[in-house]
Amino acid sequence: MTPIGFDNSYARDLPDAYVAWQPRAAPAPRLLFFNRALADELGLDAQGLDSLEGVSIFAGNVVPPGAQPLAQAYAGHQFGGFSPQLGDGRAVLLGEIVDRSGRRRDLALKGSGRTPFARGGDGKAAVGPMLREALLGESMHALGVPTSRALAVVATGEPVQREHRLPGAVLTRVAASHLRVGTLQFFAARGQIDTLRQVADYAIARHDPALLGDPDRYVGLLRAVAQRQAALVAQWMNLGFIHGVMNTDNMTLSGETIDYGPCAFIEAYDPHAVFSSIDEAGRYAFGNQPAIARWNLARLAEALLPLIADGGDGDHGRHGDAEVVTRHAIDRVMPVIDAFASWYDAHWRAGQWAKLGLSQSVAAEAAGLADDWLELLHVHVVDFTLGWRRLVDAAAGDEAPLRSLFANTPALAPWLARWRTLSEHDLAASGLSPAERVRRMRVANPAIIARNHQVERALAAATDAADLVPFERLLAALRHPDDEVGEFAAFVEPAPRSFTAAYRTFCGT
Ligand code: AMP
Ligand code: MG
Repeated sequence: MTPIGFDNSYARDLPDAYVAWQPRAAPAPRLLFFNRALADELGLDAQGLDSLEGVSIFAGNVVPPGAQPLAQAYAGHQFGGFSPQLGDGRAVLLGEIVDRSGRRRDLALKGSGRTPFARGGDGKAAVGPMLREALLGESMHALGVPTSRALAVVATGEPVQREHRLPGAVLTRVAASHLRVGTLQFFAARGQIDTLRQVADYAIARHDPALLGDPDRYVGLLRAVAQRQAALVAQWMNLGFIHGVMNTDNMTLSGETIDYGPCAFIEAYDPHAVFSSIDEAGRYAFGNQPAIARWNLARLAEALLPLIADGGDGDHGRHGDAEVVTRHAIDRVMPVIDAFASWYDAHWRAGQWAKLGLSQSVAAEAAGLADDWLELLHVHVVDFTLGWRRLVDAAAGDEAPLRSLFANTPALAPWLARWRTLSEHDLAASGLSPAERVRRMRVANPAIIARNHQVERALAAATDAADLVPFERLLAALRHPDDEVGEFAAFVEPAPRSFTAAYRTFCGT
């Protein structure tokens, strides 16, 4: 096997931000999933890794040459309350590789044993939740949503004690980085300002190199993270995705989706939808996600305040009245936090124009039309994904499938008439061909998302019967979100209402 070409900047540059730690060996590792396409993208030897040697690496049994395994420190607000020390309790970063397109990516194991950050946890992970991460990551990637992805999932051959005994697994996760809002919070909360600055400068070098050397770079970092999160959450909202546990330790600085523990897709459109068993107050309900993202960014701003008050080079400002300096820093971050809503809105609305098959030139009318459409879906309990998808059929000339989703067809007709009139006017003005418009609408309105019942079915078969066939079929479908006819047709339909009404998801298992 060609060696993995690690280049470990985190280990090198941030010695105070981790504990060097070895993964624990699994007794009987067996490969459940290997992501060849991703291995290729990363410039890895896919053929060589799809082997016993690869399985040993993905299980944590062999640390490949050049890796420097470590557990990262981070803190986080969980459901609004601050935990000053979380960190990688059951994960290690193996190291980084620079992929084929020159992007630096983290390679990490999850479920590879207890670390000094494990607190009461067992350091383990179960097959179901790790395959879930693989499914959701591939689905989101296929849908064009920035996301961490699974390179491999290995069964450990060891049971994990949860409510029941479950087969254990280790996930190999690839991410633009594992830096979180909570990473900066960890050092800010301890008053370790020099390390805080090192981590912030590292984040800038990795994700926003254009800001390097800029005296305003910490405000710049906040703005860049806020803009990426605005774009990300807008994509979630236009796909019906509920992350489920938007704690600040699960919000990346890179703008990738991470941690698919209790996530779910809504079926019938409902802003109050919550599936997570522990989210009793509905803090992370579907419609709350933009507000929570803003709340998390305010926590990021707080963590960065000492650096912003210090000035970019860590000297000026220190001599002033501390209260005045802090007030001045707050005045610098507040405009960014206040701008988040408008950035989010711009992305969300642009996504809606695409879904409606309209252009920016009819933005004002499109916003009203989109609001009324969501209201229609809500009132008539229409599946969010199918509702949008059947609108594409209507754009292609067939309104019958859309009408059949609405029990009370007369409510739909006036809206459809408005949409058609606006579409015709917009199409004539833009010069876009009707066929091209339909093609673009199909991309914006996928047919196949990770339906909760399909995900659970695939994971149950893998867990209870070691049967990976349903997982593989679902994975293939999720990788083709536009292919609703033929072999993937079965993955288009929503779950029975009774399933969705009783559906609950669980964190960190
Ligand atoms: P999560 O809910 O997966 O985002 O994890 C939140 C925190 O709990 C992180 O610090 C994890 O490392 C830690 N954690 C979750 N599950 C375990 C486990 N089984 N063993 C050790 N730490 C865990
Ligand atoms: Mg997490």
